[in-house]
Amino acid sequence: MKHSEALFEAASQHIPGGVNSPVRAFRGVGGTPIFMRRAQGPYIFDEDYRRYIDYIGSWGAMICGHAHPEVVEAVQQAAAQGLSFGTPTEAETRMARQIKTHVPSMEMLRLVCSGTEAAMSALRLARGYTGRNRVIKFQGNYHGHVDPLLVKAGSGALTLGNPTSPGVPEAVVADTITLTYNDADGVREAFSQYGDEIAAVMVEPVAGNMNMVPADQAFLDTLRELCTRHGSVLVFDEVMSGFRVDLGGAQARYGVTPDITCLGKVIGGGMPVGAFGGRREIMEQLAPLGAVYQAGTLAGNPVTMAAGLKTLEVLSRPGVFQGLEETTRNLAEGLRERARRAGVPVQVNQMGGMLGLFFTEDGPVRTYQQVVDSDTQRYGRFFHGMLAEEVYFAPAAFEASFISITHDASVVEQTLDSAEKVLREIA
Ligand code: PMP
Repeated sequence: MKHSEALFEAASQHIPGGVNSPVRAFRGVGGTPIFMRRAQGPYIFDEDYRRYIDYIGSWGAMICGHAHPEVVEAVQQAAAQGLSFGTPTEAETRMARQIKTHVPSMEMLRLVCSGTEAAMSALRLARGYTGRNRVIKFQGNYHGHVDPLLVKAGSGALTLGNPTSPGVPEAVVADTITLTYNDADGVREAFSQYGDEIAAVMVEPVAGNMNMVPADQAFLDTLRELCTRHGSVLVFDEVMSGFRVDLGGAQARYGVTPDITCLGKVIGGGMPVGAFGGRREIMEQLAPLGAVYQAGTLAGNPVTMAAGLKTLEVLSRPGVFQGLEETTRNLAEGLRERARRAGVPVQVNQMGGMLGLFFTEDGPVRTYQQVVDSDTQRYGRFFHGMLAEEVYFAPAAFEASFISITHDASVVEQTLDSAEKVLREIA
């Protein structure tokens, strides 16, 4: 890790906090971030050539494993033809078709360069389409660093406009209502107060930013019902859950159809990407057809399309996603069992290729409060213990774990043996 310390010091001279995204800085667990040099399959290699089993997978994007040979080849071929044209290309249509095959509610869609952009554009579109301003979001859900969505809940459930970050004017969040995740009654109350002023409800149908917390079926059913009744746009932010909890995303899993869906991560196979799409009637409000403006110089660029298309192709092959799900389920069950043996109370959530480990007795974990109340200190010790064992979990208790199709049974077994050892140490 020595090399990383020097690199971090150098980076900190030029880049705020030494990182280009805060979670990378290890503030949640203490210590110096590890600089990585390369990655292959389920493994990531640091600057000292230590090899770790990777459960971050670039926060979900690397679902086919790192440097998947077919994805790399597709990228190389595309790159040789030119990196970006700023004109339409056929690959964008293929990507749209491929996404729609799995997520049919996205009748039309537009490609962007990040999840933040997808969420920001979806919100603008929902507001433009409805001619309303208010938006409901949920505490612990993250939709990228979109100004009107950077809001924390106040003391009362219906408190409005409390910016999470300096630089976000109160006026910008004045129309944002922050409610409690998985609390259907709170949403009913908000709709009874503001119903016909609500442009959109934005939700992570499987939350991946308060570690991993699935929605209750009744909660999503209620959102759908209230949005339909009040003419509000239901936006599923599936940037994390898309192609991850199911090939059709959380909406396939729950059988709840949103009006707009946001995607990212997996559909770019590791290249910068995002997408938002939904009902044709709504999407046709976008420029140049409609008046809602949205654009992007590098949107749908051919290299990203090549990486994303190949990733989706590999993932959609018969049995591949089922294999991923089975591996992840085995990891979840193994973690529960090893923790029980070590005498450490844990709760493990799992869906598709995504997993959430919580140090708490209070389960199942379904609320933001339960996540906040879990033992984050103990998570920090677990994280560093696992790192010493060369297993790389997320450097924060509030982040989920991501499994790839290259994590096989032996990788899981090795992870579990290390976990049991570390859990005994921190018991
Ligand atoms: N929405 C969700 C649900 C996310 O998990 C994230 C990022 N983790 C974003 C939006 C923002 O995506 P990006 O970091 O690509 O801007």
